[in-house]
Amino acid sequence: MKQSTLIMKFGGTSVGSIEAIRQVIGIASSAVKEWREVVIVSSAFAGVTSALLASAVDAARGVDTTLNETWQMLIRRHREAVDQLVQDSQRRSAAWLEINALIEEFVNLGHAILVLGEATPRALDAVAALGERLAVRVLAAALTDAGIPAAAVDATQLIITNDHYQAAVPDMSLSVLQTRQMLGPLFAGQILPVVTGFIGATADGVTTTLGRGGSDYSAALLGVALEAGEVWIWTDVDGVMTADPRLARDARTITSLSYREVAELAYFGAKVLHPKTIRPVIEADIQLRVLNTFNPSHPGTCLTADHEALPGEGIIKAVTAIRGVQLVTLEGRGMLGVPGVAARIFSTVANTGATVPLITEASSEQSITFAVPMEYTRQVLKVLEHEMRQEIMDRNIDRVWATEEVVIVTAVCPGMRQRLGVAGKMFGAMAEAQVNVLAIAHGSSEVSISIVVSVADMEATVAALHHLTQPLNGDD
Ligand code: ASP
Ligand code: MG
Repeated sequence: MKQSTLIMKFGGTSVGSIEAIRQVIGIASSAVKEWREVVIVSSAFAGVTSALLASAVDAARGVDTTLNETWQMLIRRHREAVDQLVQDSQRRSAAWLEINALIEEFVNLGHAILVLGEATPRALDAVAALGERLAVRVLAAALTDAGIPAAAVDATQLIITNDHYQAAVPDMSLSVLQTRQMLGPLFAGQILPVVTGFIGATADGVTTTLGRGGSDYSAALLGVALEAGEVWIWTDVDGVMTADPRLARDARTITSLSYREVAELAYFGAKVLHPKTIRPVIEADIQLRVLNTFNPSHPGTCLTADHEALPGEGIIKAVTAIRGVQLVTLEGRGMLGVPGVAARIFSTVANTGATVPLITEASSEQSITFAVPMEYTRQVLKVLEHEMRQEIMDRNIDRVWATEEVVIVTAVCPGMRQRLGVAGKMFGAMAEAQVNVLAIAHGSSEVSISIVVSVADMEATVAALHHLTQPLNGDD
């Protein structure tokens, strides 16, 4: 008997070339044999979303070269894909017509932005959404041509959101209704829906997007709406790895990872899963997998509810590194015992728009250190000096300063709650590698420790910690 419903999301690289799309067709043809209902969610072709957004941003500055280049690129790539993947001439012309209409929409939007000299968030969403809208048309035509009847569906008809453009929040109950109503007839007619990732619409029908990388989230939302058995995220690596293979050559696939662990990884820049993907699927008890389009027989990574550390696992499960941050420190004896200093610091920083990925405070209360993205450092220092001018004048704060670029290395350690000495082993390993630790933060979810090191120490730190992903001799 066939299993119930499967959602398969293909990322940009999985639809980034003719060869990749051929792989997708192969994967889809096996899936429809095994599952009663299959839904494909697709990202835009690799690089398209960024090119679309860059065209809009440049057009708003009065520059139209990016617009023209992107226009050419869109025609070339989507037409080529249709030409190569759709044999039936009628079907091919129908696909061309749809693609041309969308590309015309792009040109019109681009010119409107150019004339107005402004790209509102709403306009940016309309432009960015075109990448997915183009991709699903190519994919649906190619699948149908390969003998898998498929239809392109714009998620504007399925996922209803608020009007927080560029990071819209879905209304789940409306989206569930819409999704079932729109996709039901396709299932009944044995037609495979190929749905745009990343986008939605307000109740009034204005296109929105869920934020960059949001197609994973789209797949999760559709999984919940359709009470799917599983959601599979197809990407270009063999699942979630123990480290970035460019930083640790012996990086391996993690077979199973709890939602809590992956959340920690996602936050710290493992580009594998959009962080918002996890919560809806865990709440609905849906099985989530991360698989490789280019190596489909590899089992990838299975995401599970919380689990205890498995035998044969090292004390660290995975290591990630984020670059491009600087540490900002406020120092001074006068901060001791004064309530509200931290609140003032972080609301001042928040006003600059900078996100703060790490905070530490000494219990002596004489310094607070936090990380900010490098592009914000100057502004953060300026607003803090202004906000704290009285304290600085009174010498209650002695200095506000920033380091050079640093790296936040995060180790995800699932066993930390049950095992003693995890942190000790980590710092031992780093001492052995002669790494100088600049700051430390312990994730409050108790499954991660973050260590700040200099850029020069990044590789040694990742290597030393990655070593601990192997089971230790004599370790339980
Ligand atoms: N195409 C969108 C992006 O590049 C969404 C996604 O791929 O998940 O951000
Ligand atoms: Mg992604």
